[in-house]
Amino acid sequence: HLKKFEIVVEGKDLRERLCQQKWPYFIIDFMHWEKHREKEKKKVALQASQSYGIIRDYLWGDRLALTWVNEEFKELANFPLEKVTAYEGATWEFLKKEGIERVVLLDPWADKDLSENDFSTEAFIIGGIVDTGGTKKKTTPKIGEELEKRGIKVLRRKISLRGDIIGVPDRINLILEIVLKMILEGKPMDDAVLEVQ
Ligand code: SAM
Repeated sequence: HLKKFEIVVEGKDLRERLCQQKWPYFIIDFMHWEKHREKEKKKVALQASQSYGIIRDYLWGDRLALTWVNEEFKELANFPLEKVTAYEGATWEFLKKEGIERVVLLDPWADKDLSENDFSTEAFIIGGIVDTGGTKKKTTPKIGEELEKRGIKVLRRKISLRGDIIGVPDRINLILEIVLKMILEGKPMDDAVLEVQ
């Protein structure tokens, strides 16, 4: 079974990565788990499971890391947690353990768009957040603040469509898919967004 990146070998960054065989972690951060209602927690778990499907299309399951994993999540997750990197502690602890000092946080509130210059990071972080109820406004930047308090350098980057975040799907698995299309298929941001819509 060929991974998508083995089919499309284009661009300097990709060639370098193929030579080094060193892939970043794509981390889903569940720091805000308790802000969700029961129904939303199920949605978070479902989007995590769909993220597992996506990461396996492009890379390997273990490149998907989940942090702040608790018993409740384990019960709701209907995919094999032993095939991903599931970590019960805080994201900063995981990063320190892995020797990662600098991350890219996918954040709709960021000033800068994600670009090729950010692709060499060792970890991308996506908030394990679903917004169907309550107010979880600006919870993503809080993930960044938490990491910065622990001495991690955080580059906040947004995904936009024709210069605007309106029109960009905010599901965790779709954000992951957009980033993977940009990095591994060399797709421009707008194209990657339109393809997952
Ligand atoms: N309510 C959260 C907030 O106001 O910060 C947004 C949660 S969104 C449903 C789930 C996650 O998807 C975010 O934490 C972020 O990592 C990612 N995300 C969603 N839209 C994004 C965008 N346009 N650019 C970058 N990341 C985005």
